[in-house]
Amino acid sequence: MSHDVAAAIERVRERIALACQRAGRDPSSVQLVSVSKGHSEQLIRVAYDAGMRVFGENYAQELAAKATGLGDLPEIRWRFIGHLQRNKIKLIERARATVDTVDSSRLAEAISTRAAARGEKVEVLVQVNIGDETQKSGCKADELPALVESVRALPNVTLRGLMTVAPHLEDAEATRPFFAALRELAEAQNLPELSMGMTHDLEQAVEEGSTMLRIGTAIFGPRPAMKP
Ligand SMILES: *Cc1c(COP(=O)(O)O)cnc(C)c1O
Repeated sequence: MSHDVAAAIERVRERIALACQRAGRDPSSVQLVSVSKGHSEQLIRVAYDAGMRVFGENYAQELAAKATGLGDLPEIRWRFIGHLQRNKIKLIERARATVDTVDSSRLAEAISTRAAARGEKVEVLVQVNIGDETQKSGCKADELPALVESVRALPNVTLRGLMTVAPHLEDAEATRPFFAALRELAEAQNLPELSMGMTHDLEQAVEEGSTMLRIGTAIFGPRPAMKP
């Protein structure tokens, strides 16, 4: 294999450890989610064998297929990190995925209603469009308190924290204020989980308090061209 996934995971773990050292944090306080969108089940198995357990996927259909194909891996866990349409919720149910991209009370209600029918609870994060970018999903910062309140009122979802895709800036240091802003929003809402930081800016995210990194490229290498 041209790309050594196990070695790449080692390097990511070293980056996290160094950032934790700078921030005076325990590396075990940062969860590493392997973002496997666009990559094969075979490559996911390699990452699993190298110790990864939590995988992030962006497309409902792709997640459903992979969760079925990898159903023999006893400890695999899935996080849905893409934009979720309400009519696709049923596709990701068998994967028992968390939904890290709740950005409307309508979506949260639909997730809760379907979970109630199965007698289950679904863990969710609320996605915040922290850079207020027109092309990105996520609720606006000023809409967050109302959304958090309505999600918390639902019986079959458990709100664990916030998630954001920060603006992609050439200089990763420039991303820092966005991460700090998300942390402040989470603190104000008393939410423990902060899903922020990707390949390009994981150090800044860890130093600003991320509890969950979503890493694709640094683990699996560049993504193959996506189907349209
Ligand atoms: C693709 C993706 C990632 C991973 O990005 P990398 O730069 O490859 O680490 C993280 N989060 C979300 C929401 C993504 O869509």
